[in-house]
Amino acid sequence: MPDGGADVPRRVIRGVLFDIDDTLVDTRSAFAAALGEVAAEFLPGVPPEDYPRLLATWRADTGRYYQAFTRGEIGHLDQRRARVDQLHEVYDGPPLDDATFLRWNERYDEAFERAWTAFDDAVPTVTAARRAGLRTGSLSNALAAMQRVKLAVTGLDGLAPLLVSLDTFGVGKPDSRVFLEACRMLGTAPEETIYVGDELDTDGRGAQRAGLRGVWLDRPGGRRGGPHDEDPDGAAAGGIAVISGLGDLPALWS
Ligand SMILES: [Mg+2]
Repeated sequence: MPDGGADVPRRVIRGVLFDIDDTLVDTRSAFAAALGEVAAEFLPGVPPEDYPRLLATWRADTGRYYQAFTRGEIGHLDQRRARVDQLHEVYDGPPLDDATFLRWNERYDEAFERAWTAFDDAVPTVTAARRAGLRTGSLSNALAAMQRVKLAVTGLDGLAPLLVSLDTFGVGKPDSRVFLEACRMLGTAPEETIYVGDELDTDGRGAQRAGLRGVWLDRPGGRRGGPHDEDPDGAAAGGIAVISGLGDLPALWS
């Protein structure tokens, strides 16, 4: 039973909000494809069999640079530069001058975009929500222009349109205002709205604090490790439903 526990009151659900990266879209695989391409050119000393370690380092983001970006403390390119520099330091790559970094970044973005695909359970689950009469949308800390293209190429733009992003709204998840703004745009009250995302701290707990029904999507093999809060028992104790795939979601609204 994918629920937070027997003491969680059942609520009438009228809307479902989705995180995009690693929730609807298999961003982890796209990261892997992009890192493989840049590593072949810029980290020639790293053998392909070590590319999974590169991916783990990238996703763990132990410097928490991406979170600093979502708090507005550094720009998007600044966080990218910090993470690339860290990757080169950890894997004994050559330090990058500004021009080389910009080539790295361009190559990475091109490969990343080519690799965007939706998870198999994404379109069926959003479609099921709409057939059940629920309103659906998405929110994201990533840049709106990129996310709209990502939704379009994966067939999700008409199903879970982007409502709020960091650059259009000004602050990012887990700030409660982001979730409340998404509910306002969806036209549902927070307590009538499910929010599902793959990061317990940023998504599940953030949504729960804002008064939504927070759901943590703990896909097999999807955890980041490092400093991230990824304790399913702690999540359930806080009333956050933990599911291992989007196919478990309809049980939470029916
Ligand atoms: Mg995500």
